[in-house]
Amino acid sequence: MGKKHIMVLGAGLVGSLLSTMLAKKGFKVSLYERRPDMRKTQLDGGRSINLALSKRGLKALEQIGIDHKVKKMCIPMHGRMIHDRAGNLQMQPYGMNGEFINSISRAGLNELLMNEAERNGVKIYFDHKCTDVDFDKPEAKFENEQGEVTVGADFIFGADGAFSALRNAYLKTPLFNYSQQYITAGYKELVIPATPDGDFAIASNALHIWPRGSYMLIALPNLDKSFTVTLFFPMKGQTSFETLSHKEAVQEFFEKEFADATELMPTLVDDFFGNPTSGLVTVRCNPWVKGKTALIGDAAHAIVPFYGQGMNAGFEDCFVLGQLLDKHEDLNRDLLKEYEALRIPDAEAIADLALYNFIEMRDKVADPQFILQKKIEKR
Ligand code: FAD
Repeated sequence: MGKKHIMVLGAGLVGSLLSTMLAKKGFKVSLYERRPDMRKTQLDGGRSINLALSKRGLKALEQIGIDHKVKKMCIPMHGRMIHDRAGNLQMQPYGMNGEFINSISRAGLNELLMNEAERNGVKIYFDHKCTDVDFDKPEAKFENEQGEVTVGADFIFGADGAFSALRNAYLKTPLFNYSQQYITAGYKELVIPATPDGDFAIASNALHIWPRGSYMLIALPNLDKSFTVTLFFPMKGQTSFETLSHKEAVQEFFEKEFADATELMPTLVDDFFGNPTSGLVTVRCNPWVKGKTALIGDAAHAIVPFYGQGMNAGFEDCFVLGQLLDKHEDLNRDLLKEYEALRIPDAEAIADLALYNFIEMRDKVADPQFILQKKIEKR
């Protein structure tokens, strides 16, 4: 494969995986990350503490031979556990043949991927914020503690997330299509801790949902037997984050809407006011390749989280790139154009499905007609 020098922007989930894959194929890889090393510094969370890892994502981890390590960090979730207002439970399996998705810690997975990248010779530069990219040279400008540095490479991948600096540079060029759409709901993370005797407070093998029409609560299990709970709720309006503005309002609302969960959340009010409220955005763009640079992961296709497929789709980008590298035996512009042609239609499809699944999760899963229809489809 030669010793081409590849620069990857962003040591998140996708950038770290991509770097490992490229290093395993014989490239010299430099990975630049805006934040300090998360393995040494406690970073303020901000975004989903745990995630659902599916078969699509696992395929890419298998490709680089670390699926067995990752599986040890997973808790299988075999279906949706629906909680109605009265506290009745209904398990809706994900498939007839024991299919499941996996709950995994975002930080744990990211740290493992960074370790793998370094083990395979990737050099990670932390505290380097990319501010601009020249696509043709190609080279990238960074701000770091010393000031500004410019670094060149043979190719540059932008794996720098939903607010990508590489994509921002594309925005200034002609014939670049871009859209960014926030939905009206945002989210806040809360917690159901382990029970005093150290067990899961609710069934661990399910993705729990409290569907309530225009909003919902969900919970995914963690290895320490706690659950990360997420409230997806309107950002503005009569029943919204704006109206849940004081302790009594929050406690009362949760007791009324999610009584069985509230009993298990002793730190609810503190968590509610201590944790950030964040928005949910879909980013679509085209092309993903300019000069000797390409976008990958959320930088190319940020989606809302309701299908649990954002990271999985980014991992699939890496898997497809890996297959193309085996076919072409070198990294060049033709390969990148083929990658783009294969991935953009899939990214468009999952972006639409993810938007639709919010309606299914918050509303339809509790609808008897919908449940009956699903049962008929499975026969
Ligand atoms: P990111 O994870 O955003 O990583 C980008 C990295 O680039 C970061 O480390 C960042 O610091 C760095 N960076 C940014 N700008 C610069 C810069 N200028 N210079 C240098 N570095 C930079 N997906 C799933 O598959 N399953 C789920 O269950 C799931 N649940 C989710 C729940 C929520 C609430 C949210 C918001 C998302 C969820 N997702 C899920 C989506 C998933 O989080 C993303 O798709 C995934 O994190 C994308 O990975 P990435 O590496 O492309 O981007």
